[in-house]
Amino acid sequence: MKITSSLFEAGLKCITKCFLRSLGETGMGNTYADWVRTQAESYRNAGMKDLMAGAADDEYIIGSHGTENWKTTKWRLAVDLMARAKNLESSLHAVTRALSEGRGQPGQFTPIRFVFTNKLNRDDKLLLAFDALVLSEMLGRKVGLGKIIHGDNQAALKVKIPALAGEVRKFTGKIAAMLSSPSPPNLILNRHCVECEFQTRCRQKAIEKDDLSLLSSMTEKERKKFNGKGIFTVTQLSYTFRPRRRPKRLAAKREQYHHSLKALAIRERKIHIVGSPELKIEGTPAYLDVEGLPDRDFYYLIGIRVRTAQGIVQHSLWADIANEEKRI
Ligand code: SF4
Repeated sequence: MKITSSLFEAGLKCITKCFLRSLGETGMGNTYADWVRTQAESYRNAGMKDLMAGAADDEYIIGSHGTENWKTTKWRLAVDLMARAKNLESSLHAVTRALSEGRGQPGQFTPIRFVFTNKLNRDDKLLLAFDALVLSEMLGRKVGLGKIIHGDNQAALKVKIPALAGEVRKFTGKIAAMLSSPSPPNLILNRHCVECEFQTRCRQKAIEKDDLSLLSSMTEKERKKFNGKGIFTVTQLSYTFRPRRRPKRLAAKREQYHHSLKALAIRERKIHIVGSPELKIEGTPAYLDVEGLPDRDFYYLIGIRVRTAQGIVQHSLWADIANEEKRI
């Protein structure tokens, strides 16, 4: 089976997601995942249009038609094309071709990827490096540089491909091994689940298995340690909790967090409170809730709830644009 950019992208988030996509499953019921897909598509389409608008009619091509012979090609820009090499396949947003500096010197091909977010992460760069790797293998020549155009201001970031090539190769190897394995990868809920189109399906499966990864505060290292002791389910873990009297010398210290106590609380459907917490609130308590867009470092809503002599008063203070943030 071919490793496509869609599988590579999914695998960077979660190997189960990659596996499910390889089966052609589409998932359902995650509004955020739908929103991200729509945003990404419209940003990419607008970006490709902008690139074409900046090129003369005979300088660009759309799609893979016209890229059959890369060595003698005349275009300077290709958008929305497919690159294939061995078991790899990448859907490239755009490729530019710089003219060679001397006779006999090859032109320089640079893949471009459009990312709608203002802040980039390592996965964005690895995806670009995957594009570059497939392009490079298809052309049989080095692709040293790639470009990401991203965010509200179409900022451009140049990425050095050789620095990421090793990681991309290692990861494609991991995906290839998973795809050729007769058994599916272990389902482990993780931080990406809330953004994933398979969230409902995987959560249901994890609940059926009573899987330890349902305890979201547990790290991968801790889960592996429990697995090493033969503990795989929340119920099994719940039986390992042993309440202990704390020595006086540790009384002032915070109680250690026990996953087993949380597991016990779930099994018994009870709330356990560590110690005897006291809330001493003087004056008028005001309850605040702030919502923002981390990608833009922008807080657009402050909710506040106060008790007055007339009863509870609630305000919702909105900022439609960044300039209004200070006012709210
Ligand atoms: S919901 Fe979570 S575990 Fe399932 S595929 Fe998505 S990221 Fe992976």
